[in-house]
Amino acid sequence: MKTVHTDALIIGGGIAGLRTAIGIKRAGHDVIILSLVPPKRSHSAAAQGGMQASLGNSAKGQGDNEDIHFADTIRGSDWGADQQVARMFVDTAPKAVRELAAWGVPWNRVRKGDNKSIINGQEVVISERDEAHGLITARNFGGTQKWRTCYVADGTGHSMLYTMSNKAIAEKIPVHERMEAIALIHDGQRCYGAVVRSLVDGSLTAYIAKATCIATGGYGRLFRATTNAVINTGIGAAIALETGVAQLGNMEAIQFHPTGIIPAGILVTEGCRGDGGLLLDKDLHRFMPDYEPEKKELASRDVVSRHMEAHIAKGKGVQSRFGEHLWLDIRQLGAHHINTRLREIKEICQYFMGIDPVTDLIPVRPVQHYSMGGVRTDHRGESPTLKALFSAGEAACWDMHGFNRLGGNSVAETAVAGMIVGEFMAEFLSDDASHIGVSTALVRSFMEREQEKLDQLANSSGTENPFQLMKAMQECMTKNVGIFRNEERLKIAVAELLELSERAKNIRVYSGTAGANPELVAAYRVQKMLKLSLCAAYGALQREESRGAHYREDFPLRNDRDWLCRTLASWESDEQNLPTLRYEKLDVRRMEMPPGWRGYGSKERIDHPDTEARQLQVDSAAKQQTDRYQLQQSLMPFKHMLPEKLRGRNERLDEPLANTDKAGTASGRLNNRSHKEAL
Ligand SMILES: Cc1cc2nc3c(=O)[nH]c(=O)nc-3n(C[C@H](O)[C@H](O)[C@H](O)COP(=O)(O)OP(=O)(O)OC[C@H]3O[C@@H](n4cnc5c(N)ncnc54)[C@H](O)[C@@H]3O)c2cc1C
Repeated sequence: MKTVHTDALIIGGGIAGLRTAIGIKRAGHDVIILSLVPPKRSHSAAAQGGMQASLGNSAKGQGDNEDIHFADTIRGSDWGADQQVARMFVDTAPKAVRELAAWGVPWNRVRKGDNKSIINGQEVVISERDEAHGLITARNFGGTQKWRTCYVADGTGHSMLYTMSNKAIAEKIPVHERMEAIALIHDGQRCYGAVVRSLVDGSLTAYIAKATCIATGGYGRLFRATTNAVINTGIGAAIALETGVAQLGNMEAIQFHPTGIIPAGILVTEGCRGDGGLLLDKDLHRFMPDYEPEKKELASRDVVSRHMEAHIAKGKGVQSRFGEHLWLDIRQLGAHHINTRLREIKEICQYFMGIDPVTDLIPVRPVQHYSMGGVRTDHRGESPTLKALFSAGEAACWDMHGFNRLGGNSVAETAVAGMIVGEFMAEFLSDDASHIGVSTALVRSFMEREQEKLDQLANSSGTENPFQLMKAMQECMTKNVGIFRNEERLKIAVAELLELSERAKNIRVYSGTAGANPELVAAYRVQKMLKLSLCAAYGALQREESRGAHYREDFPLRNDRDWLCRTLASWESDEQNLPTLRYEKLDVRRMEMPPGWRGYGSKERIDHPDTEARQLQVDSAAKQQTDRYQLQQSLMPFKHMLPEKLRGRNERLDEPLANTDKAGTASGRLNNRSHKEAL
């Protein structure tokens, strides 16, 4: 039996996994990162538009702060988020963006004086302050009150991931790439690492760790039409589910992005609309103001996607040989802007469609994009039910996005969660209680079980083709668990997925080769992915309301009275064919921001009985307390939940630390100048 011992095992080499590992290593612990691909090819590289952090440097971001970012995030989540976690996030995001600047991310910067921009289809001049010159700038994104999305042209994720990966190399953190975790080792109480399969030679290794973190990204590949890379299969979430002890949160909360290109499904960033792009129908009519007079193209993604699909259903879609679509028009931004700030978009349009967005309209339609659900954790990133198992990034349900994530809040989450979860994992490892005495027999039993399953697949005389099963699953999810859901379609989805799961017990793998065998890989992955699909479809069927990206045509209202809760899915035994669902209530009486209207989308809802009383308390506190920090603290304390070194206040041009908080830490200061000065 091959074994590797380490203090911390990080499964996933995207931004979340890398940042988590850096924190652990810097605290003096051993850490190993596993990745399916070299880390720089992780899906984080695909992030285009930017990262939200309330720096308030640019003119259109002036006055921004954590309170406004928090309010936008909660509205975006349709009140499904954990408000304390959202507070931890918005407070740490400015520190994260500045840390990345110091590490080398070349953020776009404010240029003093008059700058031309397009807002609401009109050219406007925005005057930037002299004192902001050279500080990190931001662009507009959906569902936000301020321009808050920090960016590196439209290659933000690429810059962030490369910087983070280089930093991990500098910290001498070993990465074991082309390795896939296929099971977690545990005793029902505590996690001890993972059984890992080499994608090169097919051999199994037991990675034994005091603490394990799942940072494997999203599960977009449950769908056919998705912006996600082929490695986004959700296997990290699936192996947590298969422990029978760890739970997955809100798996039915799946985001569809308004602008995937047709037919490839590749994303064109929300930054296109943030920078002034418009959505047009077959008559070249700009239709979004008809539905959302206030936010127009920049309502949250769930709302824009629904309006687009409904508009197509009214006969307003453009017919094409690849099906119907709408147009994204960025021509008014001009060649210079497109060639410098949206250059990846230009290349995607050229390579995949043969069009030039400087002169041509871009054919778009909503496609699956982001997984709000994932491994349920507490605010420290640890599973509440399986000790020593942590999770961070898109793989986790931490849960700051609730039922809809705002654009720019995901790469921000990966960096922030990495900072926070890394600290808590290091603290856990420093604690004596983290020392483990795992028996060889337990490790061996997991290794033997996994080897047996692989051997069975490789030697099976079954009849089912794993690729066809995968395709059928993706088709079923795209057709029935999409933007508009209803009981009839969800029941069809569950029935079809159950049938596919039965068939997946009878897979035939033609090549028995152990290593580099895509057929075998598809065979074991599809079995796990079907479980995740069932969690999503069955969870969506049970949730009889509409919230964020989960829209039920037969229950169109958000129902806070009965459904202000998080879905928890577990899979407790191999005999089970459906997940067990439980629900975790969100307590309105402790919310800093009680449920209300989002400022876009439907105003109608069923209120929670505690909402009115809590709103009165919040309003009365706001009248009595004018200091925003003290008001926040009186309503919903959260600073004590952050690692100590991340508790300092953030400095802004309009909020210098000297006047507000003498205890402000260096990391929260205006050190976003450092990169400029380095230049
Ligand atoms: C096209 C596109 C554009 C986007 N643009 C933005 C944007 O502008 N702003 C924003 O905020 N968000 C954006 N997002 C979302 C954001 O990019 C992701 O949510 C985020 O980068 C996920 O990072 P992560 O570290 O959690 O996971 P990932 O970057 O997906 O990394 C997952 C890692 O896990 C590894 N892995 C997976 N399974 C296993 C396994 N079983 N064993 C071992 N290793 C495994 C992979 O190899 C990889 O290293 C975009 C997403 C897409 C698809």
